[in-house]
Amino acid sequence: MTTIADRSTAELADLRAQARAAYDAFKARGLKLDMTRGKPAPEQLDLATGMLALPGNGDYTTAAGEDARNYGGQQGLPELRALFSHLIDAPADQIVVGGNSSLALMHDTIVWALLKGVPGSERPWSKEEEPVFLCPVPGYDRHFALCEEFGIRMIPVPMTGQGPDMDVVEAFVANPAVKGMWCVPKYANPSGEIFSDETVRRLAAMKTGAPDFRLFWDNAYAVHHLTPDRHPVRDILAACAEAGHPDRPFLYASTSKITLAGAGLAVFAGSPENTRWFLARSAKQTIGPDKLNQLRHVRFLRDAAGLQAHMDAHRALIAPKFAAVQEALERHLAGTGAARWTRPEGGYFITVEARAGTATEVVRLAKEAGIALTPAGATSPYGRDPQDSVLRLAPTFPSLGDVTKAAEGIALCILLASLEAEQGVRARNA
Ligand code: PMP
Repeated sequence: MTTIADRSTAELADLRAQARAAYDAFKARGLKLDMTRGKPAPEQLDLATGMLALPGNGDYTTAAGEDARNYGGQQGLPELRALFSHLIDAPADQIVVGGNSSLALMHDTIVWALLKGVPGSERPWSKEEEPVFLCPVPGYDRHFALCEEFGIRMIPVPMTGQGPDMDVVEAFVANPAVKGMWCVPKYANPSGEIFSDETVRRLAAMKTGAPDFRLFWDNAYAVHHLTPDRHPVRDILAACAEAGHPDRPFLYASTSKITLAGAGLAVFAGSPENTRWFLARSAKQTIGPDKLNQLRHVRFLRDAAGLQAHMDAHRALIAPKFAAVQEALERHLAGTGAARWTRPEGGYFITVEARAGTATEVVRLAKEAGIALTPAGATSPYGRDPQDSVLRLAPTFPSLGDVTKAAEGIALCILLASLEAEQGVRARNA
Protein backbone atom coordinates (compact mmCIF):
# COMPACT_ATOMS: atom_id res chain seq x y z
CA MET A 1 0.00 0.00 0.00
CA THR A 2 1.17 3.53 -0.69
CA THR A 3 1.80 5.52 2.48
CA ILE A 4 -0.14 8.70 3.16
CA ALA A 5 3.02 10.77 2.72
CA ASP A 6 3.52 9.32 -0.79
CA ARG A 7 0.01 10.12 -2.01
CA SER A 8 -0.61 12.86 -4.51
CA THR A 9 -2.53 15.84 -3.16
CA ALA A 10 -5.62 14.79 -5.14
CA GLU A 11 -5.43 11.23 -3.78
CA LEU A 12 -5.00 12.62 -0.29
CA ALA A 13 -8.15 14.74 -0.64
CA ASP A 14 -10.09 11.67 -1.82
CA LEU A 15 -8.83 9.52 1.00
CA ARG A 16 -9.65 12.18 3.53
CA ALA A 17 -13.20 12.53 2.21
CA GLN A 18 -13.64 8.74 2.42
CA ALA A 19 -12.20 8.59 5.93
CA ARG A 20 -14.39 11.50 7.05
CA ALA A 21 -17.50 9.79 5.64
CA ALA A 22 -16.60 6.51 7.36
CA TYR A 23 -15.97 8.37 10.62
CA ASP A 24 -19.26 10.30 10.38
CA ALA A 25 -21.14 7.06 9.70
CA PHE A 26 -19.50 5.50 12.75
CA LYS A 27 -20.34 8.53 14.87
CA ALA A 28 -23.96 8.42 13.72
CA ARG A 29 -24.34 5.00 15.31
CA GLY A 30 -24.35 6.81 18.68
CA LEU A 31 -22.30 4.14 20.45
CA LYS A 32 -20.95 4.42 23.99
CA LEU A 33 -17.70 2.48 24.36
CA ASP A 34 -14.90 2.59 26.94
CA MET A 35 -11.33 1.49 26.23
CA THR A 36 -9.65 3.43 29.01
CA ARG A 37 -8.71 1.22 31.94
CA GLY A 38 -7.12 -2.19 32.18
CA LYS A 39 -9.87 -3.79 34.22
CA PRO A 40 -10.90 -7.44 34.06
CA ALA A 41 -14.28 -8.03 32.37
CA PRO A 42 -17.21 -9.39 34.39
CA GLU A 43 -16.71 -12.83 32.77
CA GLN A 44 -13.13 -12.86 34.05
CA LEU A 45 -14.36 -12.08 37.57
CA ASP A 46 -16.93 -14.86 37.13
CA LEU A 47 -14.03 -17.32 36.81
CA ALA A 48 -13.40 -16.68 40.50
CA THR A 49 -17.03 -16.84 41.66
CA GLY A 50 -16.26 -20.14 43.40
CA MET A 51 -14.05 -18.17 45.77
CA LEU A 52 -17.00 -16.35 47.27
CA ALA A 53 -18.05 -19.55 49.07
CA LEU A 54 -14.51 -20.21 50.36
CA PRO A 55 -12.98 -20.92 52.78
CA GLY A 56 -16.50 -21.93 53.85
CA ASN A 57 -18.34 -22.36 57.07
CA GLY A 58 -16.03 -23.84 59.68
CA ASP A 59 -12.90 -23.77 57.51
CA TYR A 60 -10.58 -21.35 59.24
CA THR A 61 -7.60 -23.39 60.36
CA THR A 62 -4.31 -22.79 58.60
CA ALA A 63 -1.77 -25.47 57.66
CA ALA A 64 0.10 -24.63 60.88
CA GLY A 65 -3.10 -25.18 62.90
CA GLU A 66 -3.65 -21.48 63.58
CA ASP A 67 -6.99 -19.69 63.64
CA ALA A 68 -7.23 -17.48 60.53
CA ARG A 69 -10.07 -15.50 62.09
CA ASN A 70 -7.82 -13.93 64.68
CA TYR A 71 -5.10 -11.29 64.72
CA GLY A 72 -1.54 -12.22 63.75
CA GLY A 73 0.26 -13.90 60.89
CA GLN A 74 1.85 -10.65 59.81
CA GLN A 75 3.96 -12.08 56.98
CA GLY A 76 1.13 -14.13 55.47
CA LEU A 77 0.30 -17.85 55.60
CA PRO A 78 3.36 -19.96 54.68
CA GLU A 79 1.22 -22.17 52.40
CA LEU A 80 0.11 -19.07 50.47
CA ARG A 81 3.64 -17.68 50.28
CA ALA A 82 4.78 -21.03 48.85
CA LEU A 83 2.10 -20.69 46.17
CA PHE A 84 2.98 -17.04 45.49
CA SER A 85 6.67 -17.83 45.08
CA HIS A 86 5.64 -19.02 41.58
CA LEU A 87 4.01 -15.65 40.92
CA ILE A 88 6.67 -13.29 42.22
CA ASP A 89 9.79 -15.43 41.72
CA ALA A 90 11.09 -15.20 45.29
CA PRO A 91 11.63 -17.71 48.10
CA ALA A 92 8.54 -18.04 50.33
CA ASP A 93 10.36 -16.73 53.41
CA GLN A 94 11.23 -13.50 51.55
CA ILE A 95 7.59 -12.79 50.64
CA VAL A 96 5.11 -10.68 52.59
CA VAL A 97 1.39 -10.82 51.82
CA GLY A 98 -0.43 -7.51 52.19
CA GLY A 99 -3.94 -6.28 51.51
CA ASN A 100 -5.62 -6.39 48.13
CA SER A 101 -3.56 -3.77 46.26
CA SER A 102 0.07 -3.90 45.18
CA LEU A 103 -0.17 -0.20 44.36
CA ALA A 104 -0.82 0.38 48.07
CA LEU A 105 2.38 -1.57 48.88
CA MET A 106 4.33 0.58 46.42
CA HIS A 107 2.82 3.66 48.03
CA ASP A 108 3.76 2.50 51.53
CA THR A 109 7.31 1.51 50.65
CA ILE A 110 7.86 4.91 49.02
CA VAL A 111 6.43 6.74 52.04
CA TRP A 112 8.62 4.69 54.40
CA ALA A 113 11.67 5.34 52.22
CA LEU A 114 10.92 9.07 52.31
CA LEU A 115 10.33 9.16 56.07
CA LYS A 116 12.85 6.61 57.30
CA GLY A 117 15.09 5.49 54.44
CA VAL A 118 15.66 1.92 53.28
CA PRO A 119 18.45 -0.53 54.24
CA GLY A 120 21.67 1.17 53.13
CA SER A 121 20.30 4.74 53.34
CA GLU A 122 22.45 7.43 54.92
CA ARG A 123 19.32 9.48 55.60
CA PRO A 124 15.59 9.38 54.70
CA TRP A 125 14.97 10.08 51.05
CA SER A 126 12.92 13.17 51.93
CA LYS A 127 16.09 14.72 53.40
CA GLU A 128 17.79 14.57 50.00
CA GLU A 129 17.65 17.77 48.01
CA GLU A 130 15.36 16.23 45.40
CA PRO A 131 14.95 12.46 45.07
CA VAL A 132 14.67 11.31 41.47
CA PHE A 133 13.12 8.21 39.85
CA LEU A 134 13.84 6.90 36.36
CA CYS A 135 10.64 6.22 34.47
CA PRO A 136 10.65 3.99 31.39
CA VAL A 137 8.25 5.54 28.86
CA PRO A 138 5.59 4.68 27.89
CA GLY A 139 4.77 3.60 31.42
CA TYR A 140 2.04 3.17 34.02
CA ASP A 141 0.28 6.43 34.84
CA ARG A 142 -0.30 5.51 38.49
CA HIS A 143 3.44 4.98 39.05
CA PHE A 144 3.96 8.50 37.78
CA ALA A 145 1.10 9.84 39.91
CA LEU A 146 2.78 8.37 43.02
CA CYS A 147 6.00 10.22 42.22
CA GLU A 148 4.10 13.47 41.65
CA GLU A 149 2.20 13.01 44.89
CA PHE A 150 5.43 12.91 46.91
CA GLY A 151 7.54 15.39 44.95
CA ILE A 152 9.85 12.79 43.41
CA ARG A 153 11.26 14.19 40.17
CA MET A 154 10.80 11.90 37.18
CA ILE A 155 13.25 11.38 34.35
CA PRO A 156 11.85 9.59 31.30
CA VAL A 157 13.87 6.74 29.79
CA PRO A 158 13.00 5.28 26.38
CA MET A 159 12.05 1.62 25.92
CA THR A 160 13.84 -0.44 23.29
CA GLY A 161 11.67 -3.51 22.78
CA GLN A 162 13.87 -5.41 25.28
CA GLY A 163 13.05 -3.16 28.24
CA PRO A 164 14.51 0.26 29.08
CA ASP A 165 17.45 1.66 27.12
CA MET A 166 20.25 0.53 29.41
CA ASP A 167 22.86 2.95 28.08
CA VAL A 168 20.59 5.81 29.16
CA VAL A 169 19.76 4.14 32.50
CA GLU A 170 23.42 3.50 33.33
CA ALA A 171 24.28 7.12 32.59
CA PHE A 172 21.50 8.52 34.81
CA VAL A 173 21.93 6.18 37.81
CA ALA A 174 25.47 7.41 38.31
CA ASN A 175 23.81 10.52 39.79
CA PRO A 176 23.37 9.96 43.58
CA ALA A 177 20.03 11.83 43.50
CA VAL A 178 18.52 8.92 41.52
CA LYS A 179 16.97 6.74 44.21
CA GLY A 180 14.61 4.55 42.27
CA MET A 181 13.40 3.24 38.95
CA TRP A 182 10.03 1.85 37.93
CA CYS A 183 10.17 -1.50 36.14
CA VAL A 184 7.29 -3.60 34.82
CA PRO A 185 9.50 -6.46 33.64
CA LYS A 186 6.95 -8.59 31.84
CA TYR A 187 4.21 -7.58 29.40
CA ALA A 188 4.84 -4.00 30.52
CA ASN A 189 2.01 -1.54 30.94
CA PRO A 190 1.45 -0.37 28.27
CA SER A 191 4.10 -1.46 25.74
CA GLY A 192 3.81 -5.21 26.43
CA GLU A 193 7.59 -5.42 26.43
CA ILE A 194 9.47 -8.22 28.17
CA PHE A 195 12.81 -7.36 29.75
CA SER A 196 15.56 -9.42 28.10
CA ASP A 197 18.10 -11.43 30.12
CA GLU A 198 20.71 -8.84 29.20
CA THR A 199 18.50 -5.96 30.43
CA VAL A 200 17.97 -7.74 33.76
CA ARG A 201 21.69 -8.51 34.04
CA ARG A 202 22.63 -4.86 33.45
CA LEU A 203 19.98 -3.54 35.87
CA ALA A 204 21.37 -5.88 38.53
CA ALA A 205 25.03 -5.10 37.82
CA MET A 206 25.00 -1.34 37.07
CA LYS A 207 26.91 1.04 39.31
CA THR A 208 24.58 3.46 41.06
CA GLY A 209 25.55 6.79 42.60
CA ALA A 210 23.07 6.25 45.46
CA PRO A 211 24.05 3.38 47.79
CA ASP A 212 20.35 2.88 48.60
CA PHE A 213 19.03 2.88 45.02
CA ARG A 214 16.00 0.61 44.49
CA LEU A 215 14.41 -1.06 41.49
CA PHE A 216 10.63 -0.95 41.95
CA TRP A 217 10.03 -4.30 40.22
CA ASP A 218 6.28 -4.32 39.60
CA ASN A 219 5.52 -7.75 38.18
CA ALA A 220 1.82 -7.00 37.74
CA TYR A 221 1.48 -9.26 34.67
CA ALA A 222 3.82 -12.16 35.55
CA VAL A 223 1.37 -14.93 34.60
CA HIS A 224 -0.95 -12.98 32.31
CA HIS A 225 -0.14 -14.62 28.98
CA LEU A 226 -1.98 -14.14 25.70
CA THR A 227 -0.18 -17.03 23.95
CA PRO A 228 0.96 -20.52 25.02
CA ASP A 229 4.47 -19.08 25.53
CA ARG A 230 5.14 -18.16 29.17
CA HIS A 231 8.20 -15.98 28.53
CA PRO A 232 10.15 -16.48 31.75
CA VAL A 233 12.04 -13.35 32.84
CA ARG A 234 15.41 -13.68 34.52
CA ASP A 235 15.16 -13.86 38.33
CA ILE A 236 15.92 -10.31 39.50
CA LEU A 237 16.57 -11.25 43.14
CA ALA A 238 19.15 -13.85 42.11
CA ALA A 239 20.69 -11.56 39.46
CA CYS A 240 21.11 -8.72 41.97
CA ALA A 241 22.51 -11.07 44.64
CA GLU A 242 25.02 -12.48 42.13
CA ALA A 243 26.08 -8.97 41.14
CA GLY A 244 26.72 -8.05 44.78
CA HIS A 245 23.60 -5.86 45.12
CA PRO A 246 21.17 -8.14 46.99
CA ASP A 247 19.10 -5.27 48.41
CA ARG A 248 18.55 -3.50 45.08
CA PRO A 249 15.09 -4.81 44.08
CA PHE A 250 11.72 -4.33 45.78
CA LEU A 251 9.32 -6.81 44.15
CA TYR A 252 5.54 -6.42 43.88
CA ALA A 253 2.69 -8.48 42.44
CA SER A 254 -0.99 -9.11 43.11
CA THR A 255 -3.91 -11.31 42.21
CA SER A 256 -5.99 -8.31 41.09
CA LYS A 257 -6.09 -9.70 37.55
CA ILE A 258 -5.98 -13.34 38.62
CA THR A 259 -8.85 -13.68 41.08
CA LEU A 260 -10.78 -10.51 41.97
CA ALA A 261 -9.52 -7.00 41.21
CA GLY A 262 -11.27 -5.56 44.25
CA ALA A 263 -10.69 -8.43 46.66
CA GLY A 264 -7.42 -10.12 45.70
CA LEU A 265 -4.09 -10.25 47.51
CA ALA A 266 -0.95 -8.19 47.01
CA VAL A 267 2.60 -9.33 47.73
CA PHE A 268 5.93 -7.71 48.41
CA ALA A 269 9.27 -9.54 48.20
CA GLY A 270 12.91 -8.62 48.56
CA SER A 271 16.24 -9.69 50.02
CA PRO A 272 16.13 -11.00 53.62
CA GLU A 273 17.24 -7.53 54.75
CA ASN A 274 14.53 -5.74 52.76
CA THR A 275 11.91 -8.21 53.96
CA ARG A 276 12.88 -7.58 57.61
CA TRP A 277 12.74 -3.82 56.94
CA PHE A 278 9.29 -4.12 55.36
CA LEU A 279 7.94 -6.24 58.23
CA ALA A 280 9.34 -3.83 60.84
CA ARG A 281 7.43 -0.98 59.19
CA SER A 282 4.19 -2.86 58.51
CA ALA A 283 4.09 -4.12 62.11
CA LYS A 284 3.33 -0.52 63.10
CA GLN A 285 0.53 -0.39 60.56
CA THR A 286 -1.48 -3.53 61.30
CA ILE A 287 -1.77 -6.38 63.80
CA GLY A 288 -2.18 -8.76 60.88
CA PRO A 289 -3.69 -9.07 57.40
CA ASP A 290 -6.94 -10.69 56.27
CA LYS A 291 -6.00 -14.36 56.58
CA LEU A 292 -9.45 -15.62 55.64
CA ASN A 293 -8.88 -14.11 52.20
CA GLN A 294 -5.47 -15.77 52.17
CA LEU A 295 -7.03 -19.12 53.05
CA ARG A 296 -9.68 -18.53 50.36
CA HIS A 297 -6.93 -18.04 47.77
CA VAL A 298 -5.05 -21.18 48.89
CA ARG A 299 -8.22 -23.28 48.72
CA PHE A 300 -9.18 -21.87 45.32
CA LEU A 301 -5.87 -21.74 43.44
CA ARG A 302 -4.31 -24.72 45.30
CA ASP A 303 -0.88 -24.83 43.61
CA ALA A 304 1.18 -23.67 40.64
CA ALA A 305 -0.79 -25.91 38.28
CA GLY A 306 -4.09 -24.50 39.58
CA LEU A 307 -2.83 -20.95 39.07
CA GLN A 308 -1.73 -21.78 35.54
CA ALA A 309 -5.06 -23.41 34.63
CA HIS A 310 -6.90 -20.37 35.96
CA MET A 311 -4.77 -18.03 33.84
CA ASP A 312 -5.45 -20.21 30.79
CA ALA A 313 -9.16 -19.56 31.34
CA HIS A 314 -8.51 -15.79 31.43
CA ARG A 315 -6.53 -16.07 28.24
CA ALA A 316 -9.40 -17.82 26.47
CA LEU A 317 -11.64 -14.85 27.31
CA ILE A 318 -9.31 -11.96 26.48
CA ALA A 319 -7.06 -13.16 23.65
CA PRO A 320 -9.93 -12.79 21.13
CA LYS A 321 -10.39 -9.15 22.21
CA PHE A 322 -6.73 -8.39 21.54
CA ALA A 323 -7.06 -10.17 18.18
CA ALA A 324 -10.09 -8.01 17.30
CA VAL A 325 -8.08 -4.82 17.90
CA GLN A 326 -5.17 -6.14 15.83
CA GLU A 327 -7.53 -7.03 12.98
CA ALA A 328 -9.10 -3.54 12.80
CA LEU A 329 -5.76 -1.72 13.05
CA GLU A 330 -4.28 -3.98 10.38
CA ARG A 331 -7.24 -3.57 8.02
CA HIS A 332 -7.39 0.23 8.21
CA LEU A 333 -3.81 1.26 8.88
CA ALA A 334 -1.32 -1.31 7.59
CA GLY A 335 0.99 0.29 5.04
CA THR A 336 -0.45 3.79 5.48
CA GLY A 337 2.35 5.03 7.74
CA ALA A 338 -0.35 6.51 10.00
CA ALA A 339 0.59 4.38 13.01
CA ARG A 340 2.64 1.55 14.46
CA TRP A 341 1.33 -0.65 17.20
CA THR A 342 2.38 -3.42 19.54
CA ARG A 343 1.39 -7.08 19.30
CA PRO A 344 1.69 -8.04 22.97
CA GLU A 345 1.97 -11.66 24.04
CA GLY A 346 0.56 -10.90 27.46
CA GLY A 347 -0.64 -8.17 29.79
CA TYR A 348 -3.58 -5.83 29.40
CA PHE A 349 -2.68 -3.21 26.78
CA ILE A 350 -1.93 -2.43 23.17
CA THR A 351 0.15 0.68 22.55
CA VAL A 352 -0.38 2.60 19.34
CA GLU A 353 2.18 5.07 18.17
CA ALA A 354 0.19 7.38 15.92
CA ARG A 355 1.64 10.04 13.65
CA ALA A 356 3.48 12.63 15.78
CA GLY A 357 1.20 15.47 16.81
CA THR A 358 -2.07 13.54 16.38
CA ALA A 359 -2.67 11.58 19.61
CA THR A 360 -4.66 14.37 21.29
CA GLU A 361 -6.75 14.77 18.15
CA VAL A 362 -7.40 11.01 17.95
CA VAL A 363 -8.67 11.01 21.54
CA ARG A 364 -10.92 14.00 20.74
CA LEU A 365 -12.30 12.41 17.58
CA ALA A 366 -12.90 9.16 19.45
CA LYS A 367 -14.74 10.97 22.24
CA GLU A 368 -17.02 12.68 19.74
CA ALA A 369 -17.76 9.29 18.24
CA GLY A 370 -18.64 7.84 21.65
CA ILE A 371 -15.37 6.04 22.46
CA ALA A 372 -13.56 6.89 25.69
CA LEU A 373 -9.77 6.56 25.32
CA THR A 374 -7.04 7.16 27.92
CA PRO A 375 -6.00 10.82 27.61
CA ALA A 376 -3.03 11.38 25.31
CA GLY A 377 0.11 11.84 27.40
CA ALA A 378 -1.11 9.62 30.26
CA THR A 379 1.70 7.14 29.68
CA SER A 380 4.40 9.80 30.16
CA PRO A 381 5.62 11.46 33.39
CA TYR A 382 3.62 14.63 34.18
CA GLY A 383 1.14 13.61 31.44
CA ARG A 384 3.38 15.13 28.79
CA ASP A 385 4.15 13.17 25.64
CA PRO A 386 6.52 15.45 23.73
CA GLN A 387 5.67 13.66 20.48
CA ASP A 388 1.91 13.62 21.15
CA SER A 389 1.82 10.20 19.51
CA VAL A 390 1.23 7.46 22.11
CA LEU A 391 -2.23 5.95 22.61
CA ARG A 392 -2.95 3.23 25.16
CA LEU A 393 -5.75 0.81 24.30
CA ALA A 394 -7.22 -1.40 27.01
CA PRO A 395 -9.36 -4.11 25.39
CA THR A 396 -10.10 -6.41 28.35
CA PHE A 397 -13.14 -4.85 30.02
CA PRO A 398 -15.70 -4.31 27.22
CA SER A 399 -17.44 -7.30 25.62
CA LEU A 400 -15.90 -8.78 22.46
CA GLY A 401 -18.67 -7.13 20.43
CA ASP A 402 -17.94 -3.72 21.93
CA VAL A 403 -14.17 -4.12 21.55
CA THR A 404 -14.65 -4.99 17.89
CA LYS A 405 -16.78 -1.89 17.34
CA ALA A 406 -14.45 0.37 19.34
CA ALA A 407 -11.37 -0.89 17.47
CA GLU A 408 -13.05 -0.07 14.18
CA GLY A 409 -13.82 3.45 15.38
CA ILE A 410 -10.35 4.00 16.82
CA ALA A 411 -8.66 2.89 13.60
CA LEU A 412 -10.86 5.34 11.67
CA CYS A 413 -9.95 8.18 14.06
CA ILE A 414 -6.21 7.43 13.72
CA LEU A 415 -6.48 7.36 9.94
CA LEU A 416 -8.55 10.54 9.73
CA ALA A 417 -6.24 12.45 12.11
CA SER A 418 -3.21 11.41 10.11
CA LEU A 419 -4.76 12.36 6.75
CA GLU A 420 -5.82 15.75 8.14
CA ALA A 421 -2.37 16.35 9.60
CA GLU A 422 -0.74 15.57 6.26
CA GLN A 423 -3.15 17.90 4.46
CA GLY A 424 -2.37 20.61 7.01
CA VAL A 425 1.38 20.23 6.43
CA ARG A 426 0.96 20.44 2.66
CA ALA A 427 -1.33 23.46 2.90
CA ARG A 428 1.25 25.25 5.05
CA ASN A 429 4.06 24.34 2.65
CA ALA A 430 2.08 25.26 -0.46
N1 PMP B 1 1.00 -2.18 38.42
C1 PMP B 1 0.71 -2.16 37.12
C2 PMP B 1 1.81 -2.12 36.12
C3 PMP B 1 -0.63 -2.15 36.71
O1 PMP B 1 -0.92 -2.11 35.40
C4 PMP B 1 -1.65 -2.18 37.67
C5 PMP B 1 -3.12 -2.16 37.32
N2 PMP B 1 -3.50 -1.57 36.18
C6 PMP B 1 -1.30 -2.19 39.02
C7 PMP B 1 0.04 -2.20 39.36
C8 PMP B 1 -2.32 -2.16 40.11
O2 PMP B 1 -2.20 -3.30 40.88
P1 PMP B 1 -3.09 -3.59 42.14
O3 PMP B 1 -4.46 -3.88 41.69
O4 PMP B 1 -2.43 -4.78 42.77
O5 PMP B 1 -3.02 -2.38 43.05
